[in-house]
Amino acid sequence: TTFRDLRLSDWAVQTCKELGMCHPTPVQSHCIPKILDGRDVLGLAQTGSGKTAAFALPILHRLAENPYGVFALVITPTRELAYQLAEQFRALGSSLHLRCTVVVGGMDMLTQAKTLMSRPHIVISTPGRIKVLLDDNSDIPHIFSNTKFLVLDEADRVLDVGFEEELRVVFEYLPKNRQTLLFSATMTNELQTLLELSQNKAYFYEA
Ligand code: AMP
Repeated sequence: TTFRDLRLSDWAVQTCKELGMCHPTPVQSHCIPKILDGRDVLGLAQTGSGKTAAFALPILHRLAENPYGVFALVITPTRELAYQLAEQFRALGSSLHLRCTVVVGGMDMLTQAKTLMSRPHIVISTPGRIKVLLDDNSDIPHIFSNTKFLVLDEADRVLDVGFEEELRVVFEYLPKNRQTLLFSATMTNELQTLLELSQNKAYFYEA
């Protein structure tokens, strides 16, 4: 398989090539077409499997067709992971005029709120920080009213550190017709519950 076979746009195929990604990894070849079809996905995949590009590429493909912000909210357990995700989104979206923002703890909340108000295409956050921003500033929820994708990266770890309540609140702020993409190293009861909440026949990928 090639990235072109997965129905990604020419610019995306070209960017992959420039980044030395010639052939999709298994998690990419299975999940990318399902995400492009509009399905929710739960992918069990380890770090190093190429899981980031498995969700970033189809999100960027859709975003390029109809660019507006905030198009996708990505939640990950730690700050370091948030910055790494942003780096991959920027690399894969380098031919788009992509605006991608990281909002995590340790940064000034007012600055973060202002950045969010400028409606970046991709927002990458930790669960605690995005919940506080949504709750504390009445202008923030509105900017997520058209968001198409919610991603939980390292979802088992996000849920493991006891962020279930924060996530529930964040989910409430997002449109019901969004796509939800869950990527996790392991299967857990919490993920099973989230999978059952899926409105659009979630696709389950396991290596
Ligand atoms: P991840 O599992 O998302 O943490 O990705 C691990 C690393 O693999 C990243 O540095 C990617 O740049 C790289 N990578 C992702 N997809 C591919 C691919 N199809 N071919 C070669 N390298 C890739």
